[in-house]
Amino acid sequence: KAKEAGKNNYQFYTRGMNATAVNYLLLENDLRRAIEQDQLSMYYQPQIDLQTGSLMGVEALVRWQHPERGLIGPINFISLAEETGLIVPLGEWVLRAACQQQKTWLQAGKYVGKVAVNLSARQFRQQRFAERIADILTETELPAKYLELEITESSAMEHAGETINMLNLLNQMGLSLAIDDFGTGYSSLAYLKRFPIQKLKIDRSFISDIYTDQNDASIARSIIGLAHNMMLNVVAEGVEDTNQAEWLRRQGCDQAQGFLYAQPMPAGRLESFFKGGTFSINNNVVKLELPA
Ligand code: C2E
Ligand code: MG
Ligand code: MG
Ligand code: MG
Repeated sequence: KAKEAGKNNYQFYTRGMNATAVNYLLLENDLRRAIEQDQLSMYYQPQIDLQTGSLMGVEALVRWQHPERGLIGPINFISLAEETGLIVPLGEWVLRAACQQQKTWLQAGKYVGKVAVNLSARQFRQQRFAERIADILTETELPAKYLELEITESSAMEHAGETINMLNLLNQMGLSLAIDDFGTGYSSLAYLKRFPIQKLKIDRSFISDIYTDQNDASIARSIIGLAHNMMLNVVAEGVEDTNQAEWLRRQGCDQAQGFLYAQPMPAGRLESFFKGGTFSINNNVVKLELPA
């Protein structure tokens, strides 16, 4: 199944060329060079408290500024990175960049909340992954409490026993932990309750039709209830309109993230919302208006 998803992700690369082993190697080299030559950059997307409208954190999302092809999104290269093992150096690049940026914000007195970084399974199943994280925090002089790590439900459940051990190490270091794309994997609740996490993120596939599709509404309501019963925060992903936001707010969902509030954006753009000591999301008005 992962293979199939992977194949779709190569459409970008195979369009107009033959999907030969030679091309595959060229792409791998392209991506390796991208990591070495700093063609990657981080975008940040706000996470908003649904009750107060305040900024609670930002999710760090990687982009590839390809010299010929322009800006490329992660769905076009993360699975290539996973299959070739390049996800390890790529993941370290991402972690270091996000930690450095967070440190810069903190030093400037610009508090964005926690910075959340996505991990792929291959990355956090590395031997000594927790030590690598500790090294990066030391190197960037970032206290662990300002960093959150996201792992998808499916990768967390895949080797759940190992996941618990790794999450325990990370939790003991003081990091925040979130389960991403919740509802799309096959969760064992017996394992879920043993994960030392703080957050569930409801996958955006359940959010888009939330006020018209009874099934989606039931699923979202159940996830919110499950999270709260387990003393976890719950975040809705992919919130695009005020109907969705209002529905989620009424159901007691804690936070939301989506195009309604803001697209993922470079750090500098995010800073343009910083006024009078805080990031202004238009005083509790849901829409975060982007400057021209
Ligand atoms: P994700 O972690 O679930 O991230 C949320 C994705 O939803 C992002 O796509 C974001 O731009 C998009 N999104 C946010 N709000 C909305 C909305 O209102 N509507 C819609 N339609 N989409 C919205 P993006 O940046 O293309 O990232 C896709 C996936 O790639 C991420 O899903 C994550 O799984 C992966 N990814 C991104 N950056 C990294 C990274 O640094 N490392 C790893 N391992 N994976 C990453
Ligand atoms: Mg994520
Ligand atoms: Mg997600
Ligand atoms: Mg996703």
